[in-house]
Amino acid sequence: MAGPERINLYSDTQTRPSPGMRRAMAEAEVADEQRREDPTVNALQERVAELLGHEAGLFLPSGTMCNAIAFRLHVRPGGDEAILDRTAHPIVAEAGGPAAISGAMLNPLDGDDGRFTPEQVRAALREPGSRYLPRSRLVSVEQTTNMGGGRVWPLDQVRGVLEVAREHGLRAHLDGARLMNASVASGVAPAEFAAGFDTAWLDFSKGLGAPVGAVLCGSRELIEEAWRYKQMWGGALRQAGVLAAACVYALDHNVDRLAEDHANARRLAKGLASLPGVELDPAKVETNIVIFSVPDPAGFERRCAAEGLELSHAPGGRLRAVTHLDVSAGQIERALAIARRALDA
Ligand SMILES: *Cc1c(COP(=O)(O)O)cnc(C)c1O
Repeated sequence: MAGPERINLYSDTQTRPSPGMRRAMAEAEVADEQRREDPTVNALQERVAELLGHEAGLFLPSGTMCNAIAFRLHVRPGGDEAILDRTAHPIVAEAGGPAAISGAMLNPLDGDDGRFTPEQVRAALREPGSRYLPRSRLVSVEQTTNMGGGRVWPLDQVRGVLEVAREHGLRAHLDGARLMNASVASGVAPAEFAAGFDTAWLDFSKGLGAPVGAVLCGSRELIEEAWRYKQMWGGALRQAGVLAAACVYALDHNVDRLAEDHANARRLAKGLASLPGVELDPAKVETNIVIFSVPDPAGFERRCAAEGLELSHAPGGRLRAVTHLDVSAGQIERALAIARRALDA
């Protein structure tokens, strides 16, 4: 007998390339990417740079490598400090990379669901010229916030943070793993959200549904320098057009439909919030991530998994559910029924 239907809310990284995307990959024009000759990679880089309003783009194997290279570009060895939210990806999910690879001192802020204010940045700045203190060097913003629950930074708040960064000569980096979710949810163009940052990137292996790939953008000069680290760290590829073709396909077909993921997340949040014992404010669910608490998270998670519903973890012993293109509205209803049984047990 077949097991229960699998409802995979573990992460939007769980998407599989669709038949159309696989066809585009199979038919991609390719050449040696390391020699900058792959036409599909080149087209993707140009397209993402234009989408984000930056001069140039660089195709990389992962979002983690985008953050790692960007931090390395901005942070100079010798006590430079990066300001970012305590729940930001470089702190919670990059194996200590900022310290190990960039020698970065990190100054974590306690933002509101991952979003800090210009005043918090100002208060975190180190007095310049002091021999005792690290040197404030970089501000990093995550749009949307992952462990903050998929929250969208309002454009004004982003601009306010950038203004403080500029005033004090800091570099600014935008972790846009889910920038397109922010854009679809808010109606703000990605280039507006990415304006004023020295580097910004998009992930294609999250809700956009490609199997692999991210594009880091910035000035021509910074991207040229980024190429050195891509080469140094073994991220340069060969006939990578087969991968880039999936990303091009994603931009053509999988952006507007993110609104469906957001609707599914809202429905899930409302349903969960109505169950006894669940702590969650559905008004805070703006995109495709739902973070919530239950009385016995480990038991709840185990009972859900036994019925085929997969969840993941968030800070503070909470659970995280993420909607994506391989999750249907019907599956959300079935997930709610499973959650109800798991709470009753
Ligand atoms: C997933 C994620 C990353 C890393 O991207 P990968 O492609 O998984 O390496 C970075 N930042 C945020 C906010 C993410 O959600």
